Amino acid sequence: MNTHKMNRRRFLQKSVFSGSAAALTLCGCGKTTPSGNATALSYTKRIPVTESYDVVVCGGGPSGCAAALAARREGLNVLLVEGQSQLGGMATSGLVSHWLGGRTQNGEWVVGGLFRSIVQEAASRGGAKVPELPKDRVYHPYGWLPWFIHGIPLDPFAVAQFLDDKMQSAGVAVLLDTRVIDTQVRNERITHIVLQNKGGLQAVPATMVIDATGDADVAALSGCEVQVGREEDGLMTPASLTFHLYNVDHRALGDAIEIGKTPKFREKISELRQKGEWPFPYDIFITVKLVQEDVAMVNTMRLPGVNGIDGRSRTKGLVAGRKEAFELLKIFRKHFPGFQKAEMKAVASSLGIRETRRIRGDFSLRVADLRDGPELPDTVGFSMYGWDLPDPHKPSVQPLVDESTGKYVDKVQKALSTPIPYRIMVPRPVLNLLCPGRAVSVERDVLGPLRVMAPCMAMGEACGTAAAQIIRGKIAAAEVTVSRLKARLREVGAIVDRQALPVIPPRQDP
Ligand SMILES: Cc1cc2nc3c(=O)[nH]c(=O)nc-3n(C[C@H](O)[C@H](O)[C@H](O)COP(=O)(O)OP(=O)(O)OC[C@H]3O[C@@H](n4cnc5c(N)ncnc54)[C@H](O)[C@@H]3O)c2cc1C
Repeated sequence: MNTHKMNRRRFLQKSVFSGSAAALTLCGCGKTTPSGNATALSYTKRIPVTESYDVVVCGGGPSGCAAALAARREGLNVLLVEGQSQLGGMATSGLVSHWLGGRTQNGEWVVGGLFRSIVQEAASRGGAKVPELPKDRVYHPYGWLPWFIHGIPLDPFAVAQFLDDKMQSAGVAVLLDTRVIDTQVRNERITHIVLQNKGGLQAVPATMVIDATGDADVAALSGCEVQVGREEDGLMTPASLTFHLYNVDHRALGDAIEIGKTPKFREKISELRQKGEWPFPYDIFITVKLVQEDVAMVNTMRLPGVNGIDGRSRTKGLVAGRKEAFELLKIFRKHFPGFQKAEMKAVASSLGIRETRRIRGDFSLRVADLRDGPELPDTVGFSMYGWDLPDPHKPSVQPLVDESTGKYVDKVQKALSTPIPYRIMVPRPVLNLLCPGRAVSVERDVLGPLRVMAPCMAMGEACGTAAAQIIRGKIAAAEVTVSRLKARLREVGAIVDRQALPVIPPRQDP
């Protein structure tokens, strides 16, 4: 910020609660235990107020990037705030370098709009790959299951740089390495987002806010209703730390699978476990070939018991995950075809968290709605993905799948083309907030198909587009005219109608 702007700063008075005083000016008294130890501390600090924005998008992952670009496309003045040093969220900082949920198993697009154009542009720059299925092979190195095979492998470093360019050319203001730590709410509206970075604390006035943190951080900080993890006990699905290997011989891996030289990997893992060589609580071997021929993303690890909204628990998860990544590499080298010469390329710096908070809106999408319900009139996009949200205690067990047969327990007819209704992104009671991404208002199992990155981008695009109506019409997020929103989304190439979907192949068991 230049000196002129610094001089024009106003100041906002804000109370914050913290466990540590650091260098803040103490004011008032904190709570103490009978022994006199402080358990909570109250302090007041005057922090600078920066220039204002029409929309502040909090979180620069798939949903946040799409939201920021869409809002900017509508002519709004947008600030995108990201806690990590790069945009892209799990795709880049989490090394989950495989955009899923946007194409059918025949390679047709189910998510259009910004997702499709970002994929195509990234691919044209060599940062992503739109894979073709080799017709003569059963094994497909870019993903093994029908849900996975038409994912989009990407290079996280190239995509992070590509997203910088996208934001710059669109005119989105970006703050990296900056965390949203609080909000100011007046009359059920967020007036300011409180940020923290190397420059200290600052308050950004916002007309509208999009919470794309994946954890509903902004919603929770603003007093919205949220559900953490499972309804019955708050437990969350296991975390993972993803890593990339190079020097992987995908041809050897494929041949071993196709020619049946190796037992099925679950059987192999069970053998290794019996011999004491597989100490982990999961029977999973998931690798995906990335853009470079010899590079694989490994998404095998499952770390049960990590609480993604607890700092200490996340730290434990990161430390355990890094150790486990190198242990897995040793086992892969010794026992899995194609990995004999594999080397560690990168271990993610961000822990892979699949589930934390979900907002509780007036509407929550349930499995039953997808199975028996009528079409949802406010559908703003679709996902093409399965019921993938492992059990908190049993990392290899998926919801709605019978453990003994490996088949779905229930006929969830429309499971592989899950609609995304606008209402699941509307929190309550705050009026000028939308929440796209993996923290939407759904019954927990519905997160399985919706949490992957292509549908998250569709959600972000819908929220960023809706922001124009909300701001110009001075209405609440819940009052958006969905028919107008859908019309605008169609205009920009998004797929919002079931009739516009390609013919979806029949649902397959995992
Ligand atoms: C291990 C693992 C494997 C997965 N595999 C796949 C896969 O292969 N393909 C696929 O499509 N999906 C996959 N997923 C799911 C997918 O990656 C996520 O669900 C998706 O990225 C969610 O998008 P999002 O935008 O909601 O959140 P995120 O991608 O998590 O992005 C949120 C962003 O907000 C930032 N942020 C969070 N809090 C704050 C804050 N307070 N202040 C500032 N910034 C903040 C974060 O740093 C992050 O960049 C996987 C997930 C995990 C954990």
